[in-house]
Amino acid sequence: MNLQVFNRLSREKEAFQPLVEGQVKMYVCGPTVYDHAHLGHAKTYVAFDVIVRYLRYAGYQVRYVQNITDVGHLLDTGEDRILKKAGALSIEPMAVVETYTRSYFDDMDALGVVRPDISPRASGHVPEQIAMTQSLIKKKHAYVTSSGDVYFDVTSFPEYGKLSGQNLDELIGGMRVEVAKGKRHSADFALWRHAEPEHLMQWDSPWGRGFPGWHIECSAMSARYLGETFDIHGGGLENRFPHNECEIAQSEALNGKPFARYWLLTGSLTVDGVKMSKSLGNFVTIKDALKTYRPEALRLFILSSHYSSPVDYSKAALEAAQSGWERLMGAVRLTRYMLQDAPDGDAAAGFEMVLDEHKTRFMTAMDDDFNAPAALGVLYDLNREVNTLLNSGEAVGRPILDAIEQAYLELGGGILGIIPAEVNETGMDSARQDGLIQILIEMRNEARAHKDFAAADNIRTRLADLGVMLEDRPDGTVYKVQ
Ligand SMILES: [Zn+2]
Repeated sequence: MNLQVFNRLSREKEAFQPLVEGQVKMYVCGPTVYDHAHLGHAKTYVAFDVIVRYLRYAGYQVRYVQNITDVGHLLDTGEDRILKKAGALSIEPMAVVETYTRSYFDDMDALGVVRPDISPRASGHVPEQIAMTQSLIKKKHAYVTSSGDVYFDVTSFPEYGKLSGQNLDELIGGMRVEVAKGKRHSADFALWRHAEPEHLMQWDSPWGRGFPGWHIECSAMSARYLGETFDIHGGGLENRFPHNECEIAQSEALNGKPFARYWLLTGSLTVDGVKMSKSLGNFVTIKDALKTYRPEALRLFILSSHYSSPVDYSKAALEAAQSGWERLMGAVRLTRYMLQDAPDGDAAAGFEMVLDEHKTRFMTAMDDDFNAPAALGVLYDLNREVNTLLNSGEAVGRPILDAIEQAYLELGGGILGIIPAEVNETGMDSARQDGLIQILIEMRNEARAHKDFAAADNIRTRLADLGVMLEDRPDGTVYKVQ
């Protein structure tokens, strides 16, 4: 394995070399849980899911931490997203958090996203954030205002701006002057904010009652679970500034050590070129998308673009992904069908070479900065070869059919998460699926009894289109799923 990653910090493609041989420590900024997740979230977290899957496939032991932001992420208006929602629904803020955290995990499970090893909540790590803020004050990187807010002094960290490629002087000079009382520089950002008595989420601190700033949450939680320096920091490119930039400043100013070594950031999901977001209202929730499209098709759509690039959402793009997935599954189904009574022996054994060659090309693509679209292209190439072989009329032995199925499961299943392991792809248990098909067989028999052959044929054809083949035998109708 010769993995190269594009590091947003150095702006170069670098050989990936983790801090400890064979182990990867990875942190990805998680969602702020105040509403159902949309396809933009799916883009980010499916992308990191494939990165984690590939690292594990390559033999790394990965510790994957992705936080849940349940406090402190403010809107431009200064309102806390979660408190605003709690007010609108007249419920406890923590009930909002609970509802949408569950909803988020339900969506990720449905999309086949492997859960992070640790999903720490910001509100569960306030003592760590206070301790970090205290140390920053002690080291003169932060200051307390008369109103009880604590700000990070960006001028105390000359490298501020290095991730987003901005110059500190320009940042200070270029920003509109903040109205916040007691703030020294316009680019200084809050580590802690004082809370008015009516503010629902607040904690005791050395500076009075208040709540943490959004940026300090990620610095505190990554340090707690991954240490002061760790391997990969991920997130959406849109959070590069100020969020990620502030994380770097806080952590590096405090520890005097590099924070994350490789920064991998994902491009947005766009609609007609504009980022999909809650605030713009141009969003489709994951739940709604899953009513129409299979989760594997949504993944395939997301993976059709490199993780660091944007991907444009349209109905046509999703339809294309769905039919691409059907093409792949057509070959998988045919392989599984032929396996039912395949001859033993080495018929078509030469195809092993074709499998090996495509597997090598697939890994080369993934080694090149997790290039999933190129890897998908290799899978489609393989699919053409497999279809040609299976439809050639030549005998294909069981060992090679097994090897073909394994190749799909390993590359398309294990790494990309788009090929399900089980034959049953409906998400239903097989007894229920069987029951549904039996109902249709009975309806067809009834139609035939009433000499409504058009209706009977229609049921047969439409089932065949879905890969369910009916066969009329003297003792009744049976079916086979291809
Ligand atoms: Zn973060």
